[in-house]
Amino acid sequence: MEKLQALLNIDGNYIIIGLLVILYTMEQILNRPFRFDKRPQHLLNNILFQGVFFIANYFFATFQVFCIQWFNNNDVGLLHLIQIPFWAKLIVGVALFDMTSYWFHRMAHKTPLLWRLHRVHHSDTTMDSSTFFRGHPIEILVFGNASIVAAAIFGMDMLSFGLYIFIFTPFAFLEHSNLSFPKWLDKTAGLIFVTPNFHKVHHEQDQYYTDSNFSDIFIIWDRIFGTFKYKPLTEMKYGLKEFEEKKKQSFLYLMKSPFINITRVSSDELHNVKKE
Ligand SMILES: [Zn+2]
Ligand SMILES: [Zn+2]
Repeated sequence: MEKLQALLNIDGNYIIIGLLVILYTMEQILNRPFRFDKRPQHLLNNILFQGVFFIANYFFATFQVFCIQWFNNNDVGLLHLIQIPFWAKLIVGVALFDMTSYWFHRMAHKTPLLWRLHRVHHSDTTMDSSTFFRGHPIEILVFGNASIVAAAIFGMDMLSFGLYIFIFTPFAFLEHSNLSFPKWLDKTAGLIFVTPNFHKVHHEQDQYYTDSNFSDIFIIWDRIFGTFKYKPLTEMKYGLKEFEEKKKQSFLYLMKSPFINITRVSSDELHNVKKE
């Protein structure tokens, strides 16, 4: 347990910087499936999002930790009612954090007000590992609260939360990375886990696919709750039709975008545009 605690005590920012350096370099030297110019500008744009998120998270994380610890100290949550081994509790805890995030993510797609925030993440028309950073800072109120709600209902402790974040971070980087992953990975690990090819389907421009594959770690939630979809990587077009213009890809525009009325282009409208 001490070893796990020591591992989870590693500053998350070091892990984020390390993973970005490794994956960004790999994307530069290996054969990447999706080619695009101006990668440094794209990286800088997305790093600006991470910078703002870092500040927002600094304050929100304190509140998050306070809530989870308070629930634990007062035995709030279903896991306090049952006796299961320590390791089982950890694994179940990670899975339940992930399942709650699945529902919050699904809600962010279905609720117009939340979609205004979440569409910033989907706006990226050129994807690489730095796309993980692209997200509006206010969105922390959506996904940050998911962890608090999960702990209130199920009663996971801080160790489970630390392990969840520790597993979630490399998954999120890999899922957005512009690297080729073999199909056998989807057919094996993809039965349980979210593979990069699966998450890319979630970034397809066509809303039919955007509203699918909401899971972060375990794809089983999409399989159980009927939102799993698949499309080959070679047929994918990333981003959102309504954010395709160059000026709509800038950091400042995207930061303002939740407060701008932008109509979502539906699947039907997208296909009609293509036919014209
Ligand atoms: Zn989404
Ligand atoms: Zn994503």
